[in-house]
Amino acid sequence: MIFHQKTKGIARDTLRFLLEVSKSSYPNEFAGLLRAEEGVITDIIVLPGTIASSSSAVMQLHMKPPLSRCVGSAHSHPSSDMRPSKEDLMMFGRNGDYHIIAAYPYNENSWTCYDASGHVRNLPVLDVEFKEE
Ligand SMILES: [Zn+2]
Repeated sequence: MIFHQKTKGIARDTLRFLLEVSKSSYPNEFAGLLRAEEGVITDIIVLPGTIASSSSAVMQLHMKPPLSRCVGSAHSHPSSDMRPSKEDLMMFGRNGDYHIIAAYPYNENSWTCYDASGHVRNLPVLDVEFKEE
């Protein structure tokens, strides 16, 4: 297992999942943590106390191992504003280097990735194959 590897990007399926959960949580906000596997973000872990309305999504996330290799966070905004709020920036600073905000209408163009200090950073979307564990 490799730790502290540079993050190369996010798996396309993981991004789609994030957008789906954001959409199904609307008008509530969705919040989770990003976990990377060999430098690629492949998991979104729902924070305790967060309610996602899709029960299948919750099931999937419960089966994931604990918060290891967390590289950042992801959350949704119930508006089309992708900019981080003051609270977001405080949370970014404590939780890693990659922070995705998905905004309404939660499509592939309505999200942005920020670094720990809230500057926009490029996060490539990668086509990766998922292996069954
Ligand atoms: Zn926010």
